[in-house]
Amino acid sequence: MNTKILDGPALWPAQAHVPSVLGRQLVIERGEGSYIYTAAGQKLFDGTAGLWHANIGHSHPDLAAAARAQMLKLETYHIFARFVNDQALALADRLAAMSPIADPKLILNSGGSDAIDVACKLARRHWQRAGRTTKSVILSREFAYHGLHAYGTSIAGLEFNREGYGTESLVPETRRVPVDDVDALKAVIAEIGPENIAGIVTEPIQGTGGVNPPPPGYLQTVQQLCRDNDILFMLDEVITGFGRTGSMFAAERYGLQPDLITFAKGVTSGYAPLGGVIVAPHVWQPFYVDDDATPVFRHGATYAGHATSCAVAMANLDILERHGLVSRTAELETLLRAQLDQLSAKHSSVVDVRVGGFLGGVSLSDDVRAESVADKLIDIGFISRPLRGNTLQISPPFITTDGELVRFVDAISQVLSEEE
Ligand code: PLP
Repeated sequence: MNTKILDGPALWPAQAHVPSVLGRQLVIERGEGSYIYTAAGQKLFDGTAGLWHANIGHSHPDLAAAARAQMLKLETYHIFARFVNDQALALADRLAAMSPIADPKLILNSGGSDAIDVACKLARRHWQRAGRTTKSVILSREFAYHGLHAYGTSIAGLEFNREGYGTESLVPETRRVPVDDVDALKAVIAEIGPENIAGIVTEPIQGTGGVNPPPPGYLQTVQQLCRDNDILFMLDEVITGFGRTGSMFAAERYGLQPDLITFAKGVTSGYAPLGGVIVAPHVWQPFYVDDDATPVFRHGATYAGHATSCAVAMANLDILERHGLVSRTAELETLLRAQLDQLSAKHSSVVDVRVGGFLGGVSLSDDVRAESVADKLIDIGFISRPLRGNTLQISPPFITTDGELVRFVDAISQVLSEEE
């Protein structure tokens, strides 16, 4: 066994296999619109919008101005006990008004992993409050990604994200169900017993698992199964929320009425850390009963509802609305589908293309590695990302022009021609 210890910068690339990335990291120094620039001066088209977050593009001056103005007024004040800040109040009202869940309450925190922890804990507290104390298991789906806090690690459907914590992982009462298989889900519910299940978490379109849009009717059937069995239906809209699928939320696209929705990334387009949970009335009301015995849902953090993040989110929502960017993603979806169909027709190495909103996945045959294609794309000025299933991620910012999208797919075609 090689025992040589590698040296490198103080910053640990903790999501990566260190020997594979050390010395190869691209230092990103600047961004503008749909492009980012490396410290070495290379310009790259951001074909993934970073980690599916930079929906309005990079370095927008309005968001910088909103952050500056808020910091000069008040950086933040925590939401603890009797304290709250005006920005968190205003953002929660705005999100409630645009939410697919009627009359919701909003819990604001600092990101997607955080939102998942809140949603799973709240699901359990909901059933305890209802006197159904055995309902504690959280179901999730094979290939799911829900972040890497304790609950996200435990419910991860990508096995490598649970590595080192055992199959039962950090939180004992979780269980993965096979993807897109209603009968298998019914069998798991019957095996565990609905009296022991608190909720199921699902991405409307699986992202990191390979961009997997749901089969027609699948999510509606899962929602109905949840209703029939008193299981909370929790939709993880961390990627899909705020316009990625041509509606503000994918719940609208698929006609769903979840009990909880988690969101993050697109709420600020990544300009400041923020996430949260939209909570349906039957879940929040027991915590609002005017009685000494009313329980507390104790989940708080210093940066929950951070005032500067909330001010940035408001400016981001203004831009989405002012420029009609959500309807623009619907147009981009149509173009993306046509482009990827052509790509698939042209290249034998493309075994499948999947599109759901302005979100695409290109799966390649075993002889062409998505990692190697992504590396070569960087060499010619484009960013994609290898996902599970030897798949390339396509999810540029919403401000992408038709010409830029066509050039991006052409670049993929060029690299595939070289690799085939
Ligand atoms: N849920 C989904 C569906 C995600 O894609 C992600 C991140 O990619 C998360 C949760 C975790 O979000 P964050 O990275 O902001 O903690």
